Amino acid sequence: MPKISILMYHQVGIFPRPDEHRAIYCHIRRFKAQMAYLHLFGYKVLSLRTALDGLFGNGELPHHGVVLTFDDGYQNFSNYALPILKRYNFPATVFLVADLIGRNAKWLEEDGRYGAPLMDKKTVLELRRHNVTFGSHSLTHPFLTLIDRERQKQEIGGSKSALEDLLGEGVKYFCYPSGDYNEAVVHLVKDAGYEAALTCDRGAATPLDNPLALPRKAISFGDSLIGYFWKLHMKHKRKLQPAKQG
Ligand SMILES: [Zn+2]
Repeated sequence: MPKISILMYHQVGIFPRPDEHRAIYCHIRRFKAQMAYLHLFGYKVLSLRTALDGLFGNGELPHHGVVLTFDDGYQNFSNYALPILKRYNFPATVFLVADLIGRNAKWLEEDGRYGAPLMDKKTVLELRRHNVTFGSHSLTHPFLTLIDRERQKQEIGGSKSALEDLLGEGVKYFCYPSGDYNEAVVHLVKDAGYEAALTCDRGAATPLDNPLALPRKAISFGDSLIGYFWKLHMKHKRKLQPAKQG
């Protein structure tokens, strides 16, 4: 059965070794090595669109298909990740927190952590010229299962319209903040008109998955190239992750 590894990144840059929450940092040195690895060993880095067409439509899927996704839309994506992606012409999908564009990761601050800067409108519009697709990561990054239905609708549908206004085109992909979702949330994502949605559940994506609850593989600060290889080739089996910050 065709399989795609949808890799999940958050921040890419220069960080001291974090004590916790390692899955949201990727040091630029490691990121560079990981992209070189994909290039060198002939992985096909696909846009989310191409992957979805292959999984659920009539498109072809290459043997070693990989999709690169970046949650939250940190400013360091354009400073650090983009130049490397451009070197290899790798497409990427970035999930934006619609109400916090040009501000900082307030939900991290509220959790007593560093609220890293998020990219501004100008950067978003510029990135579209460089093979970057944008999806919605809600309006404010709440735990979606913990808020009432009206607010859920706002976070899911309201972020779609806000981003469509900004980008001047349809926004088709959603990413559950902190990987927090349930059946009711998935329904609202469908009703809002999204075509696909990504979770933090671990695994490779296959045609048997619900396109509105696709699994991914988190790349963590601690992943050496061996760990990276392991994640690409093993860990295909789906494993539900408890919702967490990310
Ligand atoms: Zn997030």
